[in-house]
Amino acid sequence: MADLRIVGRAFVDGRILDEITVEIDGEFISSVSVGESGSGPRLLLNKGQLLLPSATDLHVHLRDWKQAYKEDVFTGTSAAAAGGVTTVVEMPNTLPPIRSSGALKERLELLATRAVVDYSIHIGALESVKDAVEALELGACSMKLYPTDLERLESHLRVSRMSGMRLVVHAELKGGDEPETVKMLLSRMKVGDDIRFAHISRAESLRMIELAKMGLGARITVEAAPHHLFLSSEELDENVRKISAVRPPLASRADRHYVFSGLGACSVDFIASDHAPHALEEKMSEPSAPGFPGLEITYPLMLTEWLEGRLEISVLVKKLCKAPAEYLGIPKGEIREGFYADLVVFDTRARWNVSAKDFLSKAKYTPFEGRPLLAKVVSVFRRGELVYDGGLMVKGGGMHVHELKQRYG
Ligand SMILES: [Zn+2]
Repeated sequence: MADLRIVGRAFVDGRILDEITVEIDGEFISSVSVGESGSGPRLLLNKGQLLLPSATDLHVHLRDWKQAYKEDVFTGTSAAAAGGVTTVVEMPNTLPPIRSSGALKERLELLATRAVVDYSIHIGALESVKDAVEALELGACSMKLYPTDLERLESHLRVSRMSGMRLVVHAELKGGDEPETVKMLLSRMKVGDDIRFAHISRAESLRMIELAKMGLGARITVEAAPHHLFLSSEELDENVRKISAVRPPLASRADRHYVFSGLGACSVDFIASDHAPHALEEKMSEPSAPGFPGLEITYPLMLTEWLEGRLEISVLVKKLCKAPAEYLGIPKGEIREGFYADLVVFDTRARWNVSAKDFLSKAKYTPFEGRPLLAKVVSVFRRGELVYDGGLMVKGGGMHVHELKQRYG
């Protein structure tokens, strides 16, 4: 007898099937079958509901420590759960930053006690191979290079090549030209390098990356953020100008259309929120602090594109769930026997408008305020446990991806 059977419409093997039974045993999916089968407690979905794998977000800022007034691990990961995201990867530009094994250990201890969803960490730029190897042993996901780190790019590339540590790059040198920075980075890449471009926003950047992906022999991947897919500087409402301040800045309509087309064309590998909360006063000051929360609406925004006929569901599930889980090397992101039961029930007949005052994030504003959406999160399971059901159901329980990998292996 299964611990739980979820019966109804589900996304399985790349398509939506009407009557599926997903059986959950402990933390795992124990079977997926057509029709209703098995015995044990049952969650029967209604006609408007759809069972999907929950998402893995490779780019979030949970703040905490000295910036706990902006967000903390608990509120940030609660926002993740509310958005159908059950694994997050944190960026290292915390205060103090995560740029040593000591800081990494300290951060992992905090996450272990406070995170509601599973987690991993991108460590900041390291100067020595020994440090990188140590960080990898502790489970660091990859090494994040910020614009200021690019001055020492050769040294970081050497550390990456000698330790096997993957790179994630914010490609925007001082002055803010993303295409120029992408061009410079691509010119330094060698066969065997593994580099992920965070939040690509310009058509020109993506075109260069597309060519490099085909010919360079390096593993090059690309992340796109919802604000670069759906918002442009030309279409921006004047009263959200400060709220929408972000790095890289919002681009033109043509740019955002090109980046969007990269989802179907497979030049964009991942959708990541770049959840980056600040205090409202920091957003309203001059200059405005770059970034805003995004974890709670990324999945619903993408599903709305599908429901309105602009994107295939298989594409969005791949970029939100499957590909990022594969990047981390964990069996998540698909509704499949033997995989972790990381699942989300969506109401696909919902009609609602984004309202930041309802966010579980401490940052209660968004450039998407008032935007009509057609899909709403109903319930979320993290490794078989109901973590969100119209409200948060747990106080913690998130685990380090590194540990999940060892347990699964
Ligand atoms: Zn970021």
